[in-house]
Amino acid sequence: MNRFGSRWEALGTRAFNSREEVRSEFMKTRVIQVDPAEPDPRAVEEAAAVLRGGGLVAFPTETVYGLGANALDRDAVAGIFRAKGRPADNPLIVHVSRPEMLSTLVTSVPPSAEKMIFRFWPGPLTLLFPKSAAVPDIVTAGLPQVAIRMPDHPVAHLLIDAAQIPVAAPSANVSGRPSPTSASDVLEDLDGKIDVVLDGGPCEIGVESTVLDLSGTVPRILRPGGIPREEIAEALGVPVEVVSAEGEIEGSSPSPGMKYRHYAPKGEMYLLTGRPEEQRDTAIQRAQEVLKDGKGVAVLSSSENVPAYLGLKEKFPGLFHVLELGPRSDPAKIASKLFSSIRRADKLGVSVILSESFDEAGLGLAIANRLTKASGGKVLPPRSARPLTVLFVCTGNTCRSPMAEALFKKIWEDRGGPGGVRVFSRGTGALPGMPAAPEARAVMKTRGVDISGHVSMPLLPVDVESSDIIVAMTKAHKEAILSRFPAAEGKIFTLAELASEVVPGDIPDPLGRGEEAYEETAALLEKAFELVAPRLLKHPALRKEDGDRSASG
Ligand code: AMP
Ligand code: MG
Repeated sequence: MNRFGSRWEALGTRAFNSREEVRSEFMKTRVIQVDPAEPDPRAVEEAAAVLRGGGLVAFPTETVYGLGANALDRDAVAGIFRAKGRPADNPLIVHVSRPEMLSTLVTSVPPSAEKMIFRFWPGPLTLLFPKSAAVPDIVTAGLPQVAIRMPDHPVAHLLIDAAQIPVAAPSANVSGRPSPTSASDVLEDLDGKIDVVLDGGPCEIGVESTVLDLSGTVPRILRPGGIPREEIAEALGVPVEVVSAEGEIEGSSPSPGMKYRHYAPKGEMYLLTGRPEEQRDTAIQRAQEVLKDGKGVAVLSSSENVPAYLGLKEKFPGLFHVLELGPRSDPAKIASKLFSSIRRADKLGVSVILSESFDEAGLGLAIANRLTKASGGKVLPPRSARPLTVLFVCTGNTCRSPMAEALFKKIWEDRGGPGGVRVFSRGTGALPGMPAAPEARAVMKTRGVDISGHVSMPLLPVDVESSDIIVAMTKAHKEAILSRFPAAEGKIFTLAELASEVVPGDIPDPLGRGEEAYEETAALLEKAFELVAPRLLKHPALRKEDGDRSASG
């Protein structure tokens, strides 16, 4: 038996394409325990030697764990991108242990940057500087500025000092995953892909550094982080711009790398908005819909709202989970538990993660930024802020349901129904992107309604979830939808159920039966909606809005 044992045997028949592949198959990640407050210099020296030799070392900082390599060694830095699967156009932050180290990395230090260094280093503030020739292009993704910070953590400090080199280090996670705040998070993502993890316990701050660009006329925060915007503005004595997370998600980001999906959990994540009680109510309502389908849900909750979720926890043991972030008054606590809670939700295997949102002052801005990105910008607004949503469903979404959508909108309006009602249509077996049938367009046109802009869409879970009332054209549609989307229970009706006086049964498909059949369908839909529209005025979703309005004056 050779020294690789059975592992070697198993691999005996495999073809490797490169030395790199062989290397990664056999790389063992060494975990070195260190006391975070008083790290043993000999233990840290072991890791420093790996860095000097061109290897990869994950290490704790006060923000998150970093994945470090010699910043002056192009090949070593390339290893970071490979291990993380990081896109090459996402630049890295270079970590130093003393301000003097800047001299080899940058061509100049503007006075405003000097001020920031004096005030905030060591600490969670990354500054951009014009880079020197010593910094390989791979570090900055070809940009003229290099991002540098001095971490405030005894282990990070000692490691960089011992290695005697600047250390390029992004967060030590697989690209796109939540950042790691413990050595076990790092191993979860990178075990076998990196040389060493220095295990110095959990990170204190839990969100990454603030990235500040002082090169323009107005100071800009490219990424909110551990140092709040307010403190930076106060120290600089001028207002500071912030690049918003929403802007990044929608593209056109001035901060490279930020355009990528970040911090993403495996489950679908939604950010709850509105007042804390509204967030809680929305979470409970949405969780129930998902739990009914037999799928798991985790709520990232403020301490204040935890008790309100206990009922659901009892009703759905093992399926519904409450992960407490911290009190609303303590953003530092919430930040420190943010990434680990998202990772925990993933480990629980939930399909949906609902996160409460928090005040954006101080550290709250970084928290909001990470939550927005982790949820990919998906929000669940409070019920009162959402319009009454009516969905019409047929099969192909080219004949009956687009006509129903258009006619219902018209009758609702003609009848003086309140504004802000959302009406749309989908098909149980629709191909996406088809126009409405020519006959449907024609009979709508005779009623002064233009549906030439309609495009067909298949029915998706999100459509069912976001609707208050789902109107099916036939009983078969209703049954098919209920079997595929249990969340439709209680809010799906056939048109015959809603307007039995005028609709005896199914709305037949006019497809292929000539314009006359479409005319009959349209006339039947109109008659039905004359009855349905006034009935819908009593829908609780509308009553609630009225109540809110009268309460506010
Ligand atoms: P990470 O260390 O994984 O949190 O990523 C570092 C982030 O810092 C990048 O995604 C960029 O947003 C930012 N950054 C690093 N270098 C630069 C640079 N040269 N210019 C602008 N932003 C940078
Ligand atoms: Mg990162």
